[in-house]
Amino acid sequence: MFAATLPILVNIFVAGMFVASFLTIAQLNPGFANIRWIALSYAFGLLTPLAELLLPLSPWPAPFMIVSYGGMLIGLVLMAPALSLLYSRQPYWGWAFGIIASGIALRVLIWGGQRNEFWYELLYQLPYAAAAFLCAATILRHGRKTGLDTAAASLFAVIGVHFLLKPPAAVYFGSGASALDYSKTTYALISQASSGVLLIGAGLLVLVNALQMVVLRDRNDAMSDPLTGLLNRRGLHAAFQKLTAQRSGLSATIAILDIDHFKAINDAFGHAIGDEVLRSVAECLEGNRPANATIARIGGEEFVLLTPWQEESLARLACESLRMAVRQLSLRKVDSVAVSIGFTPVAPGEDLSQALARADRALYAAKAGGRDRCVFEPLDGSLQSGRATLRLVQ
Ligand code: GH3
Ligand code: MG
Ligand code: MG
Repeated sequence: MFAATLPILVNIFVAGMFVASFLTIAQLNPGFANIRWIALSYAFGLLTPLAELLLPLSPWPAPFMIVSYGGMLIGLVLMAPALSLLYSRQPYWGWAFGIIASGIALRVLIWGGQRNEFWYELLYQLPYAAAAFLCAATILRHGRKTGLDTAAASLFAVIGVHFLLKPPAAVYFGSGASALDYSKTTYALISQASSGVLLIGAGLLVLVNALQMVVLRDRNDAMSDPLTGLLNRRGLHAAFQKLTAQRSGLSATIAILDIDHFKAINDAFGHAIGDEVLRSVAECLEGNRPANATIARIGGEEFVLLTPWQEESLARLACESLRMAVRQLSLRKVDSVAVSIGFTPVAPGEDLSQALARADRALYAAKAGGRDRCVFEPLDGSLQSGRATLRLVQ
């Protein structure tokens, strides 16, 4: 009796821990409130060992049998939509309700049946297997296709197969003639322990997956600009590090693009329209950037273009086409908007601030030269030495 009770107690404890863990993650990360669905799934699952623990103590086994069966079925089925919601996808509600409805129908069909029989056990376990397979399919279809997803999908498939192996095991070991006898059987011990171990494994994989998504979202948020969705200065820094590490410090061009007389737009139409212009310009730059290049917003109305090549003529072409694209933007209130651009190659081993300082000097020259133009600053700083005007492009 104690041997069978122990895994039940362990399952109650573990399911409770998972409910608490998923609720805590959802609570601490408002962007991931849907993780509460996973907690709900475990809360339903928790009802099964609880009912099995209490069943032998009560003279009326029927309600406990219903809760024991329904808790785990609803809990396991609910895991599938909960996973879809974690991945921000539309759950397979039809399949979920279908499995629950057929599970209830099958349970009614075999109510009062002979527990030790293969067919009774098979019809009992079939909906559980279907629920586990639905979880596996959901992860395969909606997941991020990471190693963690593959592991979780495989484990849910194993859980499905494990439910299908229970009927022959029940017949072989004997699962007790009544619900009351069940808890005293060797089969109950094996069944409770194996389900427990597999469900703990799946729970841990789902937990790590959820935490990884929270961390990735946080990292992404920290690197992007909320107004335009472009990379922010921190994101640009990361992109710059990655690019220069890949290219051992060579072959990159950096350009600063600054909207001309943006303050006047704010003053004339208000901050909200100013924000709208910033979003439109950002979208325009992102839509017209060269392939493999990066666009970031590093300040109020300052954007950066980072290209993975260095040829001056190509860089000039890229900057000119961005400048023209912004000029051709049609905006709701503002007649037209223009950008001045300063661009420069990135020297080997140089850090971002050094390259930006040189691009900024070119930008300053572009502003001084009349705005709405691109100015190049070579590595040797010849722009500063007076040859700047030769390089201005109207
Ligand atoms: P210049 O042609 O010399 O670049 O002139 P400018 O008016 O564009 O430049 P200035 O630096 O004088 O003004 C930039 C303005 O950008 C000032 C600030 O109020 C505005 N700004 C900064 N961040 C934001 C923002 O997030 N939204 C809006 N709407 N305005 C912003
Ligand atoms: Mg500025
Ligand atoms: Mg400006």
